[in-house]
Amino acid sequence: MVTFMIKKHKSFTSSSILLFLGIIFLIVLGNEIYINKTLNKFSKYHFTSINILGQIRGGIQRYTKLKIYHYKYKLVEKKIDKNFKTIDLYLQKKYIEIPQKYLIEFYNLLNNIKRIWKEIKKTSNKNKLIILSEEAWKQSNKLTTLMTKITTLKLTKLRFIVKIFTFVTILIIALLSIFIFYYVKIGLEKATITDPLTKLYNRLFFDHQYKHHINKFERKNSPFSLLLFDIDDFKKINDTYGHPVGDEVLQKIAKTIKQTIRNTDFAFRVGGEEFLILFPDTNQQEALKIAKRLQKAIKNIKINGKSITISGGVGEYDKKYSSNHFLTKIDQALYQAKKSGKDKIIPIT
Ligand code: GH3
Ligand code: MG
Ligand code: MG
Repeated sequence: MVTFMIKKHKSFTSSSILLFLGIIFLIVLGNEIYINKTLNKFSKYHFTSINILGQIRGGIQRYTKLKIYHYKYKLVEKKIDKNFKTIDLYLQKKYIEIPQKYLIEFYNLLNNIKRIWKEIKKTSNKNKLIILSEEAWKQSNKLTTLMTKITTLKLTKLRFIVKIFTFVTILIIALLSIFIFYYVKIGLEKATITDPLTKLYNRLFFDHQYKHHINKFERKNSPFSLLLFDIDDFKKINDTYGHPVGDEVLQKIAKTIKQTIRNTDFAFRVGGEEFLILFPDTNQQEALKIAKRLQKAIKNIKINGKSITISGGVGEYDKKYSSNHFLTKIDQALYQAKKSGKDKIIPIT
């Protein structure tokens, strides 16, 4: 159902819709890339760190055992050194970031283990090795547990961020979809009631508005008037200058109408070169005045120095008419104007 509101809307283009769809696509894509990248990076370094700390924890145990029995412990030593280096690199490059809250605890434990590891490497005393390895186990177990705790906490936080991201994305998409829906709806409605050549309203919208104003007249006694006019000898213009020039004249007339009538009035192209104007809250006398003003303005449109003239009928609606009868009266007045020499606006009686 077309409504009054339509009058206030600008025209919409399909490229704007394409732009909105593009925005939606970019939001979804950007979100997906960001979330994926963050999660990948997070899981790669954090889970690796837990694993490495676990390897240090177990590795030191293996190392002491092998060292006590003087059996191939150098290989394990290298592996543990490498593990420490990797953890240091992750920290230094900020691949893993320890929250402020756990910073002191984390570095204390890490430095303790490093210190114990150094001592373990240096000593060959069996008793000392056992004591040190036990201490290394405790410290590295604590560190692995702490790293697991940090990872779990961060993961919870990350999940929350992802949820917010998803929520915001869905919200934006929903809002844009609603916007597009109305965009298309209003665009279609506008196209349905608009004459493509002159951009005035068409016959369909006239029927709607006419009924609406008759209802308003019956309910609230709001007066309204109609002007029906037809271009004089338009066929000649087409025949002499061609159809495209005729079209141009129609467009110029439409422009003149828009400039002449009030914002609250409605102009329709109802036939090839026939126009209707509905003046709400306007009596016959006022409508006739505007019609004459319009007639004069249209005369300023000239072809080869010759003015365009129009003939029309104008009238105010009254309860004594039926809707069809009133239109017939206006049409008869137009016919009268044509018959009595054209270039005239005749009011109904
Ligand atoms: P009258 O003064 O009695 O109104 O004569 P007229 O020539 O204006 O009227 P007639 O009904 O004989 O011709 C109307 C012409 O309007 C014929 C038709 O080709 C032309 N016409 C209708 N629609 C269009 C259009 O969209 N573009 C152009 N260029 N011409 C149109
Ligand atoms: Mg005609
Ligand atoms: Mg004509």
